[in-house]
Amino acid sequence: MSTAGFAPLIELAGVNKYFGRLQVLYDINLTVGRGEVVVVIGPSGSGKSTLCRTINRLETVESGTITIDGVPLPEEGKGLAGLRAEVGMVFQSFNLFAHKTVLQNVTLAQLQVRKRTGSQAERKARDLLERVGLAAHADKYPAQLSGGQQQRVAIARALAMDPKALLFDEPTSALDPEMINEVLDVMRGLAREGMTMLVVTHEMGFARASANRLVFMADGRILEDRPPEEFFSAPNTERARDFLSKIL
Ligand code: ADP
Ligand code: MG
Repeated sequence: MSTAGFAPLIELAGVNKYFGRLQVLYDINLTVGRGEVVVVIGPSGSGKSTLCRTINRLETVESGTITIDGVPLPEEGKGLAGLRAEVGMVFQSFNLFAHKTVLQNVTLAQLQVRKRTGSQAERKARDLLERVGLAAHADKYPAQLSGGQQQRVAIARALAMDPKALLFDEPTSALDPEMINEVLDVMRGLAREGMTMLVVTHEMGFARASANRLVFMADGRILEDRPPEEFFSAPNTERARDFLSKIL
């Protein structure tokens, strides 16, 4: 699988994951290189969210290894806040703290995990809010913002940790169509600037324009892992052809 030119930042080798007796990931081998953007697509239930969640230890795995920047994931309970600062995650449902302001959402983990001072954290938060176009909304609460604005706050919050990589799990799937682009714009900017990103999305325009590699999953397996232009012009597998015919 081609990762030429990118030193591995996220590496999964032989990963198997079960929920009870149900196996949901089968022998996953996947590398995301430093500065690389990997887009993951596949039918509902194929294990895309579980894959993301295993990478920052929201789920444990039964076998296989996951390393971040050469370091194996910590044991359960130990060093998890640090890990999640290194590898930020952006969820479909935003997951902001409802009873904290936008500014507080972006400063909290900086204070608790990165041990920054209040003024350092606030300066960083205001810079990031400016960057995602929300400087004027710092004192509002999440419920006062649109979905697209909330998702941009969630991205600013993840960036405030100075992460080595970001995981996005269908970041635009809960948004009204007119808000999708404002979030994709932020993501496209991050990709251009060399942020390492693993992105689960059905936004094929983003995949074509910004992905270095396209990973197609079905039934807990990676069936294809190729440059997007190759994948879209000639998928290798029947499952991928069938999937593309339904979404394009
Ligand atoms: P995707 O994100 O591709 O839709 P998921 O990773 O959410 O797929 O789910 C993969 C499989 O794991 C599905 O069969 C789903 O029902 C199952 N699953 C996901 N989370 C859990 C859980 N917490 N407990 C039991 N089964 C789960
Ligand atoms: Mg999912």
